This record gives sequence, C-alpha cells and structure tokens, in this order.
Amino acid sequence: RFVMDLFEKTNGEHIYDIAKEKGIYPYFHQLTTGQDTVVNMEGKKTIMLGSNNYLGLTSNEKVIEAGVNALKKYGSGCSGSRFLNGTLDIHVKLENELANFLHKEACLTFSTGFQSNLGIISAICGRNDVVLCDKENHASIYDAIKLSYAKMIRFEHSNMQDLEEKLKNVPSNNGILIVTDGVFSMSGEICKLPQICSLAKKYGARVMVDDAHGLGVLGKHGRGTAEYFNLEDDVDIIMGTFSKSLASLGGYMASTKKVVEYVKHVSRPYIFSASITPASVACARESLNILIENPQMVEQLNEVSNYMRIGLKNLGIKIIDSQTPIIPIYVYKDEYAFIACKMLLERGVYVNPVISPATPVGQALLRTSYTAPHTHEQLDYAMKQIKEVLDILGV
Ligand code: PMP
Repeated sequence: RFVMDLFEKTNGEHIYDIAKEKGIYPYFHQLTTGQDTVVNMEGKKTIMLGSNNYLGLTSNEKVIEAGVNALKKYGSGCSGSRFLNGTLDIHVKLENELANFLHKEACLTFSTGFQSNLGIISAICGRNDVVLCDKENHASIYDAIKLSYAKMIRFEHSNMQDLEEKLKNVPSNNGILIVTDGVFSMSGEICKLPQICSLAKKYGARVMVDDAHGLGVLGKHGRGTAEYFNLEDDVDIIMGTFSKSLASLGGYMASTKKVVEYVKHVSRPYIFSASITPASVACARESLNILIENPQMVEQLNEVSNYMRIGLKNLGIKIIDSQTPIIPIYVYKDEYAFIACKMLLERGVYVNPVISPATPVGQALLRTSYTAPHTHEQLDYAMKQIKEVLDILGV
C-alpha cells in the first residue's frame, strides 16, 4: 500500500529556500537590543520601521521598573490558568483599569492577542451561528472562526454593499457576529465602523472589533477605533493586545459583564492555558497608566506618521494612503520586497516585507510603521534611503 509521507511537503524548494540561496532572506534577523527607534540588528545600528511599538513604551523606564518590581514580588510565572491557581490581584486590577478606560462594563485578559481572538470567538459563536468576516482580517480571526464551528462568510474588504448582501441571506434562526480589524494590520486602513454598526442594527447582528492596531493610535485619548468614530456603545466586543501600544505581551476583550462572565467560564483557550506572567501584566498596567496620563502621545504619534506620509508622497513614492502609523509602500514584485529589505538593512533601515498571499499577486509591499518617539532626523534619513533603493530597483 502506498502511503504519502507526512513530511513530503517539507521537501523541495520553498520560497524561503530560494530567498536564502539568493542571499535575500528577510526573516528572523537577530536583535541584540530591545525594541526602540534605533536597534542593533545583525550587529548594525538600524532605524526600526517595522515594529508595533506605537507609543515607544518598550524602553520606558517606568514600564521596565514596574516589570522588574512585579518579577521580584510575584516571581517569574503563574504556573497555571486564571481559572484555578493563576489569578493574581494585578490581573484583576489590569482588567478593571482597562474596562474603565475603554468605557465598557468588564474586561478579560488572555495570554496573547492571537489567543484572545481564539478564546473570544470560539466561546461566543457555535454551530448555529454565522460570522461575517472582512477578507483582510487578521489570521487569528480566521483561525478563531474555524475553532468555533460557526459558519464563516467572508465579505469583500470594507465593502459595505457586499456585507449587506451577505447579511440579507443569513437565516433568522442564526446568531450573527460581524468581525473586523479596527485598523487593518497590513494596509493601515481604518475599518468603516459607522456603516458596520448601522448594518448590524438593521440585521440584528453583534459587532466585534479587533483593535490590536487601534489602541493608543486612534481617538483623542487613544481608546481606539470606537472612540475615533464615537461609537463605543455600538461595538459589542472590543478585542485588543498588549503587544503593541502597551509594550508587553497578552490580550483582552472588553464587553458587558454578562458576555465577559460567559466567556470566562466556557472559553477553552482561556481556561486551559496559563495566565499572563506577572512582569507582563505589570508592564501593560504601567503602559496603560502612562497613556491615560499622557494622551498627547497619541497626537505625537500622529504627527510622526503624517510627517512620513507627506514626505514619502512628496518624493513620488507610491504608498497606501492610510491615516495611521502603518504606511505600506508598493514594490509590486515579491522578489523586490525581499531585495529592498536587504538593501535598506545594509543602509541601516529595517522594514517588513509583505508578499503574496498576504497581498494580492503583483502588489507586494514594504510595510513601514512608526512610533511616537521617532525623530524627524531618523525619518528624513530613512526616507532618503527608501527613495534611493526604490530608484535603483526602478519601482
Ligand atoms: N490581531 C491583529 C489585527 C494583529 O495584528 C495581531 C498581531 N499582529 C494580533 C491580533 C495578535 O496579537 P498578538 O501578537 O498579541 O498575539
């Protein structure tokens, strides 16, 4: 009997093998410093234009001190689930502080942002439910829907006509969740939340926003996409992560007490996994506190992003014209994305390559992202290098 070897797929030439052979492999570069506007990457001083450290808090002294103190007081790990032995007073404090900040009744934290999506959607949605998912939503949302056994219906990216068509066809005995990234992680575009919320009302659906890239970025106080549109009461579940603006690791959902209480008792990725480490909780709390006390950081981040956006456009560089700190630059061909990354790294600038299938074929990008403490001097230098590299490649 012929049996296909399970590992057969690991043989043959993959795109990563080819990139390595050509010396343009862009992944897993090692840093010997922490995340900051300038890092040491592969032994070289490099301007970091590829992190989600939007408020620059990973190197903030108060955040680091809070982490060290928690490590000393509570030890290195919680060694168990929130459900049983793994709940610390600081987990609960962080949840209460976040719920207050986000103007929601209650909040629940998970060990990562990815796990938050898995834990929220798989708990809230089941076999008899339908999830309407924007095609450009984050991978964790796709996996979460699969895990939930609900029916996934994808709608064209930010296409409200398509969303409505699909909502019309959902039978009335199905519960409906519309789930969208608040800020799309690759393009940096903001979702069409006002239209989504009004369609949800019209068709009796619930709305969940993944605000991983919205918290600390959008809204006058940095409360995210719902604050930006003044729709905090209309979003049923706000999900977010501590790994971006809040300079730590972990994730959360904010919603009504009832919904949070339910998820807390049925969510398998929540119940059967260890809780966030003490140091990570303390760093997230301190970062949140700094954001609450310094909302001008959000304005500063906007200023930095706009400076770069205008600068790139003035140089004739083709970008996705977002309104956030994520500014993708077109290089079109996948190979150009890898080559451009390598050339930029040699010039002391790090950016992320985005190739198919993360983008449509022929629309490869350099995803650049900015943080509040980036200086104009750093941005001017990076802009010049990007322009020169694109000119050399003939993009
Ligand atoms: N949602 C979105 C939109 C994201 O961009 C990410 C991280 N890239 C996540 C969820 C997962 O968050 P984490 O890295 O904290 O697991």
